[in-house]
Amino acid sequence: MWGYDPAPQGTDFVELDERYGHFIDGEFVIPEESEFFPSINPATEEPIAQVAAATEETVDKAVQAARKAYEKYWKKTKPAERAKYIYRIARMMQEKARELAVVETMDGGKPIRESRDVDVPLAAAHFFHYAGWADKLEYAFPGAQVSPIGVAGQIIPWNFPLLMAAWKIAPALATGNTIVIKPAETTPLTAMLLAEIIQEADLPPGVVNFVNGAGATGAAIVNHDDVDKIAFTGSTAVGKLIQRQLAGTDKRLTLELGGKGANIIFDDAPIDQAVEGIVNGIFFNQGHVCCAGSRLLVQENIHDEVIDKLKRRMSTLRVGDPLDKNTDIGAINSLEQLNRIQELIGAGMEEGAQMHQPDCDVPETGYFLQPTIFTDVTPSHRIAQEEIFGPVLSVLTFRTPDEAIEKANNTFYGLANGIWTDKGSKLFRVAGALKSGVVWGNTYNKFDPASPFGGYKESGFGREGGRHGLMPYLKLS
Ligand code: NAD
Repeated sequence: MWGYDPAPQGTDFVELDERYGHFIDGEFVIPEESEFFPSINPATEEPIAQVAAATEETVDKAVQAARKAYEKYWKKTKPAERAKYIYRIARMMQEKARELAVVETMDGGKPIRESRDVDVPLAAAHFFHYAGWADKLEYAFPGAQVSPIGVAGQIIPWNFPLLMAAWKIAPALATGNTIVIKPAETTPLTAMLLAEIIQEADLPPGVVNFVNGAGATGAAIVNHDDVDKIAFTGSTAVGKLIQRQLAGTDKRLTLELGGKGANIIFDDAPIDQAVEGIVNGIFFNQGHVCCAGSRLLVQENIHDEVIDKLKRRMSTLRVGDPLDKNTDIGAINSLEQLNRIQELIGAGMEEGAQMHQPDCDVPETGYFLQPTIFTDVTPSHRIAQEEIFGPVLSVLTFRTPDEAIEKANNTFYGLANGIWTDKGSKLFRVAGALKSGVVWGNTYNKFDPASPFGGYKESGFGREGGRHGLMPYLKLS
């Protein structure tokens, strides 16, 4: 699709450093006396590289570099010139697509088929999309004066490391802001490759800065006085903490948080197609997806048929080496996440739901888990309420559309849902009643850089993607 071997095999062509630090003011730096943490391949449990954790002092250097670059170059750079840089990044990502896909899979555990066909192409597409906006901002907001905010601090999670970096960096650059971004601590490596691309693309030094580290590094960005805007994607718990920390400051904030999406399947739905959608909704990326369809709401009279078909389909899923292009379900991103998922599976069994796992082989080494579904789930069960963020589906039933709506909305979250029905009128009526930022009709997990994405309730606020995604990075007057 992007001009490289469609079946990348092996990792010999990948050149990674043994140690990574940060990318500040156009240079890769590893401060003396840094503390390092390993970035582990979750499929082998082996460290791939050692990564330095940025201290407050290092974060301060990155913010100073971003401030200087903002005042000196970026806010004065002509919009069409900014677009040229962003297009260049997009093209270079395409050129390095194979390496990016393989490193994404090694570092995060997701199947290479997904890194290759989804993460990397969508990340490049995001840069292309926002390059197009850079010199059209006055058309995007007719009659308004548009100006950038300044220095944006961006914090991202581990489930789509490169794609989340693209979602954050591309709109901020297009609108004339400079950036300090922190990748997640379990998946820093494609961000380092993106930093190399940004360096080779010749962006003025300091326009984009990467700092590595865990929560303390993120907190140092959030609390830095000279950061004007925070864009955070991650858990609802940390999102709420950040919101409290920023109360009373004039920093702008957008939060993209967790979810507990429902796939609602009516008895008039095309059932085989719906089963494919359910499988994609919950097992794509091992279920490490904020908008995963992690609840299935199935109309009572088709429950047995759907569950039979689902179980049969699950028995064909291949769990294993994420670098094998035939793998459907790769490794769970970290041991910590595996333990958390297993704890919730235990809670499901204790609370009386019925667990079903296909009888499939799972490698002994690495953080792997069979695809899992629970039937006989009630709305009060923990597995019906908490975000599991793994390949675990909770099945509930309903009788009427109103009951489906009531059950789908019975969650603190409001990010995404899917509806499966043959009737357009039902689709639109139910979609309109769901409290969620995204509703898919007869499909699931479809993304496009032009479509705004974001949540309601405890799934956060602010939108990423399309024209809406420009707003968090602009002052409009
Ligand atoms: P997390 O909240 O633990 O971490 C996210 C990021 O925040 C990481 O980079 C982490 O180092 C940093 N961080 C941790 N503590 C911090 C603090 N006190 N201050 C500042 N930064 C801090 O989440 P996670 O486990 O990495 O990611 C999974 C979560 O992300 C899930 O809940 C998922 O639903 C959510 N997510 C949401 C979206 C969306 O668009 N809504 C997209 C992807 C993931």
